[in-house]
Amino acid sequence: MQQNSHTPHPSGAQRQHLLRSIPKVDECLQSLQGIKETAAVPPSVVKAAVREVLAEVRQAILEGNETAAGSLHLDTLIPRFMARISQKQRPRFRRIINATGVIIHTNLGRSILPRSAMEALFEAGSRYSNLEFDLETGRRGSRYSLVEELLCELTGAESALVVNNNAAAVLIVLETLAKGREVIVSRGQLVEIGGSFRIPDVMARSGARLVEVGATNRTHLRDYEGAIGEETGLLLKVHCSNYRIIGFTSEVANEDLVALGRQHDLPVMEDLGSGCFIDLSRFGLMKEPTVQEVVASGVDVVTFSGDKLLGGPQAGIILGSRELVGRIKKNPLNRALRIDKFTLSGLESILRLYRDPERATETIPTLAMIATPVAVVSRRAARLQRRLRRSVGDGCDVALADTMARVGGGAMPEQNLASRAVALTPTVVSVNRLEELLRRQEVPVIGRIEENRLLLDMRTVADDEVGLLADILARVLRERP
Ligand SMILES: *Cc1c(COP(=O)(O)O)cnc(C)c1O
Repeated sequence: MQQNSHTPHPSGAQRQHLLRSIPKVDECLQSLQGIKETAAVPPSVVKAAVREVLAEVRQAILEGNETAAGSLHLDTLIPRFMARISQKQRPRFRRIINATGVIIHTNLGRSILPRSAMEALFEAGSRYSNLEFDLETGRRGSRYSLVEELLCELTGAESALVVNNNAAAVLIVLETLAKGREVIVSRGQLVEIGGSFRIPDVMARSGARLVEVGATNRTHLRDYEGAIGEETGLLLKVHCSNYRIIGFTSEVANEDLVALGRQHDLPVMEDLGSGCFIDLSRFGLMKEPTVQEVVASGVDVVTFSGDKLLGGPQAGIILGSRELVGRIKKNPLNRALRIDKFTLSGLESILRLYRDPERATETIPTLAMIATPVAVVSRRAARLQRRLRRSVGDGCDVALADTMARVGGGAMPEQNLASRAVALTPTVVSVNRLEELLRRQEVPVIGRIEENRLLLDMRTVADDEVGLLADILARVLRERP
């Protein structure tokens, strides 16, 4: 049993007395009725808040942590009820400020959408739409056809289909093309992404059988060739999204794999993971093949996420030949994995921006955050520092630090972007406590602790968030002496 070290352990009788002193629920509700802030709160919420707080008080008494009868008075309890009510009234799913420096952060919502896409989403949600209605013929249409043309125009693919996410895309492609058959994959590409997506597991679910070839670091064309047999249904390449095998390595080029597939009449698929339409090497990142380049290499089916480097909503995009994508479209799983109208409208808006790559880079937040020169990030950090120096006084040391931001999201392994952070060393609380307090704010702020400082990486903080961030920090550091 836990015990507060500053208070004597209450005797059984004292404890009983304390338990009996806990006010009744009805009594508490009556007092709360007189408070105008609770007038608009649904009674069920008020009641639940009261019950929860009283249960905590009871527990604290039983554990010997609550020994003062004074803290059982309604005057003391009412602020606790009010705090609980306001916590319950707040949406559980809400915005945060991402000061981690990880641009595509899966836990923090991956990509954020530009205003134009949000406006399209707003309209899609608040009005009827032609989601599955062909305005030319006046008959039933397909939801995919609305973005298929754009996807083909932008990538050079013959046909396209969009499903719930890239995991779903991989699943439905394998299920359609290789169920009950063998899929040949290089041993170096059997990736796990975020613990929940593993190629071997998805493969098992699809009913396809995995045939691993090559060694972890090297796979040759002859390894694939040697594994092809009667049962082979597909040759699969998986992009090494979140790790890289370095040193003595070798993977087979798409063109060679495609030639081998043609020779044996086998389709070749590439799971690109984080597909990108723009060559990001000019922003100091490593050259990765663009989606257009992968399509041009002759691969029969390509899959990638909508919310990684593409910078759109969660989706799984499948590109490929008319024949193969046609078969995938007819798979009944397609119905279970389909996208909703919000995804569709957000995705179409994003894709339209890619018609002008320059504009796409400036307006799609995921790309803009990658493209922002470090000098601009530095100025943003300096702006926050100036504001904090004025407002937090000696509650915190506020310095600037060079950092490395990351593309993240299983995209572009080991690829860092020079960045700048505001480094906080609080004097009034521990750095861990500051991290926790910021996480618990109405607009939570998520940074990272390094060498006993809290770093707020400014690459992922928008210009128009600096003021809010400064206000939150000032409040937290002033309120907690
Ligand atoms: C991210 C990723 C996936 C999963 O994509 P989701 O859109 O998160 O479902 C699958 N394969 C690769 C190679 C990835 O990088």
